[in-house]
Amino acid sequence: MKNCLVCSVIALFLSGFYIPQSDASAPKSGFNITVLGAKGGIEDGNLTSFMISPVGDERAVLCDAGTLVNGLRIANEKGVFDNIVVPKSSPLNKVGYVLTEHIKGYLISHAHLDHIAGLIIASPDDSAKPIYGLPATIATIKNTHFNWKSWVNFADSGTPPVLNKYKYVTLKPLMTRELTNTNMTVTAFPLSHTQPSTAFLINSNNASVLCFGDTAPDSISNTDALLTVWKKAAEKIKAGALKAIIIENSYTNDRPDHLLFGHLTPHHLIKELHKLEMLAGGKGSLAGLSVIISHIKYALQAKSTAIENTILNQLTEQNDMQITFIIPEQGQRWVFN
Ligand SMILES: [Zn+2]
Ligand SMILES: [Zn+2]
Repeated sequence: MKNCLVCSVIALFLSGFYIPQSDASAPKSGFNITVLGAKGGIEDGNLTSFMISPVGDERAVLCDAGTLVNGLRIANEKGVFDNIVVPKSSPLNKVGYVLTEHIKGYLISHAHLDHIAGLIIASPDDSAKPIYGLPATIATIKNTHFNWKSWVNFADSGTPPVLNKYKYVTLKPLMTRELTNTNMTVTAFPLSHTQPSTAFLINSNNASVLCFGDTAPDSISNTDALLTVWKKAAEKIKAGALKAIIIENSYTNDRPDHLLFGHLTPHHLIKELHKLEMLAGGKGSLAGLSVIISHIKYALQAKSTAIENTILNQLTEQNDMQITFIIPEQGQRWVFN
């Protein structure tokens, strides 16, 4: 009786102890996404670049780096990095500290300048870290950018002498690997564009975010490149793991197909997302999913000043999937969990 009482007391204590422990130790799941560059053109200083880190962990990677330091500066002015303390021993300002200490690598979808110019220009003051890409992307960066002609070779191979700051990490299509010095993994999917491009599925603690480089719709590229991504994304949606999609929508619907040059319009994007909806479980399966619209190509004609609104309206008109479309602003940060 006495023993049983002791057992009960211990069991009660343990159960009481266990429950809050369980809650407290449950892994946080989700992502911080900061917009360092939102657009696909034509203004330097706001070109495709998204800073992504797991919730509760500031060790980030960039999905593309069209703009870098200007995006960090604007995000800093908006208070995004207020919780980051620069040690007194550091000679750097906040932007420099985030660049060198918090950004742990670059995922480059393809080597067009609007996806890599920020990284190249910031390279003299950057810290050593990996550049991840599919073979064609790494080859173009090596041959076209870090080649001592267009820029100093800060990488670890290519035109000598190599300065060994950046380590090229060649990704294998559809294979998952760790992102060094972070708590994230990545899976790369080849996309069809004017040169080979990439979608990155970034994973951490059973949460995923999907970030696209430039892409044609499958109906125009005559490939199943996007379908292959949608199949994987559908698995993640069914598991409740996909927190957000970042995808390009360069032009409005009045852009003719023969002038898309490997890009999407609202009409084509909605058609592609319908395929994802079917694969993810049919009608309603994408309800509430956040889809961030990147790479809008604005122009200087007077009539194009409201192109973001036009694209959002055209997406909304055809949105029978209850998707939440978001037009990103440079320096903005979301937490998706
Ligand atoms: Zn682009
Ligand atoms: Zn491109």
